[in-house]
Amino acid sequence: MAPSAYRFETPQDARTFDTFSVANAVAVKTALAERGCPCEPYADVFTFRRWIAQGRAVRKGEHGIRLPVVVERVNEDKDTGEQHTLRLLRSSFVFCRCQTDEAAPRRRS
Ligand SMILES: [Zn+2]
Repeated sequence: MAPSAYRFETPQDARTFDTFSVANAVAVKTALAERGCPCEPYADVFTFRRWIAQGRAVRKGEHGIRLPVVVERVNEDKDTGEQHTLRLLRSSFVFCRCQTDEAAPRRRS
């Protein structure tokens, strides 16, 4: 897992996606409809870390919407130098805007 993938330099970065999954958007839309909130996938729904990067925090006790995520990992054969890409299935949890509060700015001491 590349740590850089989880670092967002600006709030804009945190709202930008490399990939857009229609299946995930549909899953999120369904979950939001069940919840009865007006949030939109990819506009009001983000992971915990993406919310933090945008200055908002997920409230304690809120349950995220679970999404399947395929993570690619490149392994290199030490003898041949050949690279193999592994695809791993992981879960990601996303939260809608209604589940967040504006976070107090972090103080640096
Ligand atoms: Zn919502």
